[in-house]
Amino acid sequence: MNTLAPTTALDSTLADAVLELRDALDGSLHLSTDADWDAARTAWNLTVDQRPAAVVIAGSARDVVLTVNAARELGLRVAPQSTGHNAAPLGDLADTILLRTSSLRGVTIVPEAGTASCESGALWADVTAPAAAFGLAALAGSSADVGIAGYLLGGGVSWLARSHGLAVNHVTAIEIVTADGLLRRIDADHEPELFWAVRGGSGNFGIVTAIEMRLYPISEVYAGTLFFPLAEAGRVLQAWREWVVDVPEQVTSVGRILQFPPLPELPDFLRGQSYVVIEAALQAPPVDADAVLAPLRDLGPVIDTFHPTPMSELDQLHMDPQGPVPGVGDGFALSALTTEAVEAFVAAAGAGSGSALLSAEIRHVGGATGRAPLGAGVVSHFDAEFLVFGAGMAATPAMGTAVAASVERLAAALAPWRAEVLYQNFAEGTQEPGAIWGADLDRLRAIKVVYDPNNTIRSNHPVL
Ligand SMILES: Cc1cc2nc3c(=O)[nH]c(=O)nc-3n(C[C@H](O)[C@H](O)[C@H](O)COP(=O)(O)OP(=O)(O)OC[C@H]3O[C@@H](n4cnc5c(N)ncnc54)[C@H](O)[C@@H]3O)c2cc1C
Repeated sequence: MNTLAPTTALDSTLADAVLELRDALDGSLHLSTDADWDAARTAWNLTVDQRPAAVVIAGSARDVVLTVNAARELGLRVAPQSTGHNAAPLGDLADTILLRTSSLRGVTIVPEAGTASCESGALWADVTAPAAAFGLAALAGSSADVGIAGYLLGGGVSWLARSHGLAVNHVTAIEIVTADGLLRRIDADHEPELFWAVRGGSGNFGIVTAIEMRLYPISEVYAGTLFFPLAEAGRVLQAWREWVVDVPEQVTSVGRILQFPPLPELPDFLRGQSYVVIEAALQAPPVDADAVLAPLRDLGPVIDTFHPTPMSELDQLHMDPQGPVPGVGDGFALSALTTEAVEAFVAAAGAGSGSALLSAEIRHVGGATGRAPLGAGVVSHFDAEFLVFGAGMAATPAMGTAVAASVERLAAALAPWRAEVLYQNFAEGTQEPGAIWGADLDRLRAIKVVYDPNNTIRSNHPVL
């Protein structure tokens, strides 16, 4: 990332008020004139050049209250951020305090209740490891260092998605600081309208300081990846497409094209190699899982990594980057995956396509992700059977341009099968709010006006 010139409105006009806030915080406040400015403002996605008015790294829920009050009084806005995995759509932050919860990572597992109480800056690894010590599983995403907050408040597609549905449906209580500076504990019985909105309305309604969620008594799944040569993409993905039609809801899988750059930190079998792969997690004893997997193994994979996998190791399955990277990506949902859709996917991202994508994936959802449980929030299910996500490394602007063009090409190729719903966690560009929330947008906006009349709180995907 380029080092930035220290220029923000705050430096000249609001410095005194901001310094007062800095003195009052348990955590820290950073301005563009500070030596550690770049470290404070850097998002997980290193391509996103965040230039907020100031960065607050909250040391407590009290800091969140102080920051929201100060911002409101100074006429600034506040954007909550946990890791910055989905920082790209935030846009210009010149009038905004970036409020990072990254130091608030406390997690308490209550095994007898089967729940986890987590501070909002916790990463999934902070939850899955201690939960696993009690034989419990959280509905974590594929990556250990994704934040629980953005993931859960946006929906949450886990390796147990088809059996358990969206992870947000398993959130039982939220602590949130609203724009008036009040720290509220909300659940089904306390401010249910706000609780409905936050579960899927994400960072639009306040700064979440803590989240409680249900855990499940699952200690391991049968999980792994079948690797095939990239040239086999059409044959393998057509077979996977047929296979997913009948798999039970206890099976969540991904069909994927991978083209790894020659990075020294990658193992030999991945470095500079290209594959079509099928990844899956099966909640079944090995003998039953092997029977389910047999048609895929009959395709003749060159590598087969399936084995009984402890829940705490499931975050390795998707081979996500281990730490911040410069990336460009975007995603969308499909209502159906036909023979022609797979052909279009392979033509756009497979061998000889010229695709600059490191990963082009199709996640099989459906099952419980298609059902809204009683009492759910605004995002509770998908009217879509598959999610697509394309991403690549963007270490230079030219690489970023090439990846963006490949993402667009993938989206255009699959346009005929696109579902109406847009999954906000896979949306890394600016979106029309109606595309994410559809007919619920009016109700969300009405709630926003009640709790945040001056639009102080700012989300990556705004409802207003
Ligand atoms: C490598 C990788 C793997 C992924 N794997 C999966 C996966 O398996 N399944 C899946 O569903 N998604 C996955 N995602 C998408 C991921 O869920 C989104 O990027 C999500 O927004 C990340 O949450 P975060 O808190 O880490 O990100 P951030 O960028 O910090 O936050 C994103 C948004 O969440 C809201 N938010 C964050 N913290 C707070 C808070 N304290 N209070 C209020 N609002 C807040 C804000 O609106 C914020 O703009 C993946 C993304 C990447 C890059």
